[in-house]
Amino acid sequence: MDTIFAPSTAAGQAGIAVIRLSGPAVRDVLKTVCHMDNPKPRYAAFSGIYAPDGDKIDEAVVLFFKGPNSFTGEDVAEIQCHGSRAVVKEILSVLSSLPDCRMAEPGEFTKRAVYNQKMDLTAAEGLIDLIHADTEAQRKWAVRQMDGALQRVYDGWRGELVQSLALMEAYIDFPEEEIPDSCLEDIRNRTYNVITQLEQHLDDKGRGKRLKEGFSIVLVGAPNVGKSSLMNQLAKRDVAIVSSIAGTTRDIVEVSLDVAGYPVILADTAGLRETEEEIESIGISRAIKRIREADFVIAVADAQDYPHVDETTSRALAENPAHLIVWNKCDLTDQKPDGLCLCAQTGDGLDALWDKITTVVVDTMGTGSELMLTRERYKTALRDCLAALKRSLTAPALELQAEDLRLAANALGKITGRVQVAELFDIIFSTFCIGK
Ligand code: GDP
Repeated sequence: MDTIFAPSTAAGQAGIAVIRLSGPAVRDVLKTVCHMDNPKPRYAAFSGIYAPDGDKIDEAVVLFFKGPNSFTGEDVAEIQCHGSRAVVKEILSVLSSLPDCRMAEPGEFTKRAVYNQKMDLTAAEGLIDLIHADTEAQRKWAVRQMDGALQRVYDGWRGELVQSLALMEAYIDFPEEEIPDSCLEDIRNRTYNVITQLEQHLDDKGRGKRLKEGFSIVLVGAPNVGKSSLMNQLAKRDVAIVSSIAGTTRDIVEVSLDVAGYPVILADTAGLRETEEEIESIGISRAIKRIREADFVIAVADAQDYPHVDETTSRALAENPAHLIVWNKCDLTDQKPDGLCLCAQTGDGLDALWDKITTVVVDTMGTGSELMLTRERYKTALRDCLAALKRSLTAPALELQAEDLRLAANALGKITGRVQVAELFDIIFSTFCIGK
């Protein structure tokens, strides 16, 4: 087994950089580069870092974790050196020259942690999500998942199924043992129970996907009503071109927002109108598609035309019932529209719109106590498990019922990594960054 190493901190100049090592040669490496004979586990040692010819590269704080009490389960060391490119480069170059040592691949430290059963696959994926978390809700869920929130549920169900399977196999294999027939009833009840819980869990109303990819809000309306101006106000910066020339926004412009800790993707679309112009009409058909797929649509209408909403926008809104009409350019009219009145130029009325957006997002995303299904692979495996359990209830022979229970348990095992599938591991860990 190679000893792997990599910088765990981001590339570039910084006060401190952390270089992490894991594997059987860690003690030998510390002896060579830190002149440490017997590193004390979990003790911060101040040490020089030396090239093999004795040249001093830097001074660093060195931590040693003796396996299996480490992140990967192997011997691990962390060198907290000064964060200049030259220092990091030189230390990495020295480490590469040592026997059995090589640069880690992306995610390789965590992969070893999973292989050594320091965490299951869902916890490892929680860790990936934590590293990539942009918003508070993403961080909170990632920590829960890293802490085993999903693992506990799946292991619990899997345990039930494995017990049922063992019971059924005993019933099949040892008919002379007089296992009571009621045990078959017991197995059916347990299966029903897991099916009910699985169905509830799978019906997450798309929360997990939205937590990962963002809740999508689309701004629509006729040209020149002020969509781009509103977009810039909501984004608090200039992302869309504001112009009095109709048809300026021809494609979709997106910004990421943080609404009450949830990620939101806000898209400004091409103004909706009948047009012969080819590029503009492509933009409009894209806008219609986005309206259909959006979690929420904000239609911007001109307050001067109140209560009239132009026909193209009205028709587009029929595509998605989750919508709200806001009246813009309220500064240009004395009319008091019934609904949200805005002035996208100055930001007047924006607080009320923010409140509305926040309510819609929070109502959809839940209270934060729900379990989130953030990956398609979880859903696929859960659906496989559910299908196998349902089949087991109607299978014509006990042997077939047992086989279905086994398939159901394996489907759950695939999620947590209990059934080790090498290619699955490679796919998952390749999405990590190097040094994790
Ligand atoms: P879009 O085509 O719907 O994206 O509209 P824009 O945001 O490009 O705005 C069209 C024009 O209306 C620009 O000249 C803006 O400055 C102007 N405009 C936008 N919002 C308001 C508003 O609330 N009040 C006034 N008076 N003008 C606005």
